[in-house]
Amino acid sequence: MKIKFWGVRGSTPTPERRNSRYGGNTTCVEVRLENGTLIILDCGSGLRALGKSLLREFGERPLRGNVFLTHFHWDHIQGIPFFLPLYKKGNVFLFHSVKREGRELRGAVEGQMVSPYFPVDMSVMGAARHFYDLDEHPVNLNGAIISSAPLYHPQESVGYRIEADGGVFTFATDTEPGSPLHDRSVRELARQADVLVYDAQYTPEQVEGEKKGWGHSSWLEGTRIANEVGVKHLVLFHHDPDHDDFFVDGLVEKARQEFPRVSGASEGTEIILPRGHARQASLASASNRRQEARYQVQLPLYVEWGEAVGQTQTAEGVCKDVSRTGIYFVTSGDMNSAKPIHLELIIPDDVTHRGDGDQGLPRAKTGVAGRIFAEETSPLSPTLEEEDEAQ
Ligand SMILES: [Zn+2]
Ligand SMILES: [Zn+2]
Repeated sequence: MKIKFWGVRGSTPTPERRNSRYGGNTTCVEVRLENGTLIILDCGSGLRALGKSLLREFGERPLRGNVFLTHFHWDHIQGIPFFLPLYKKGNVFLFHSVKREGRELRGAVEGQMVSPYFPVDMSVMGAARHFYDLDEHPVNLNGAIISSAPLYHPQESVGYRIEADGGVFTFATDTEPGSPLHDRSVRELARQADVLVYDAQYTPEQVEGEKKGWGHSSWLEGTRIANEVGVKHLVLFHHDPDHDDFFVDGLVEKARQEFPRVSGASEGTEIILPRGHARQASLASASNRRQEARYQVQLPLYVEWGEAVGQTQTAEGVCKDVSRTGIYFVTSGDMNSAKPIHLELIIPDDVTHRGDGDQGLPRAKTGVAGRIFAEETSPLSPTLEEEDEAQ
């Protein structure tokens, strides 16, 4: 999978010298799969340069593109009228977005070209155009699994997760922290992602203060998410029009204090995920020590794994410690760690202080169950961490 940034700016294009290093075009990211499938995430002003590049690459050959829009704010659609491949007969474009009440995808895309806003309307575009509403179910696009989830933003934005060629790429822009539902969904989208592109338009102080409710986030929230859900590389995105190159450099530097593998999105940059990257990376990260505080909790543990109820295998083990992002346990048996795992920790009364007659509670053992649904491409790997522990 290859990821290329054509537009990284938020809100409005900023063709100014002071921010030319990161770039002034609004959001547009190209994803190219190994089988040649072309995916375009958002159609901001960066789409224009992508169009010219595609024309050079394809020449007279027909082109088929899959466009996924996060939402319809100008900075995410304004490149469409200037995307030359749309004017070429024989090309095919499939537009996708999540269905929204009272807003029709075709109307939102084509509406910006009606008179008097643009000299020609979309009927002069020779390429075939198809429009698809997504729902909460993932779609399979030539072998790529693409999931979406709502993000917290005025008129709601949508984040995408692309799992393909053994890698995971998450695109989550135009999102503000603070809504529990959306905070959860962005974490699900980003879980174990090789690359997370995340809205870092504002400073943490702005998100908490003057820009609260504007629908954008900060590097700090990006690093929190990256640490919590095992992201391999974080890319700060949707730079504010008023943030020049040096200011964005400063944001990236601050983010690096919290999460080492972070960069600021810049126009023209490519990220290539070689095949199998996700699995190798996830195994590598599983063998890395968890960096946050660990609590020594030596407790009996019951492990169950398998595909479906009735087809599970079980083993007993011992929990050694827990931390915010994981648990280290040892267990007998040959676990298949690529399958969903069900863990049950038995916490004795002398830990919970909920034994005999205490506060009138009935005499009972307290059990805490945690479920970890491992991704196909990123299995939980307790054995590797165990090896690391022994070093
Ligand atoms: Zn935006
Ligand atoms: Zn927006």
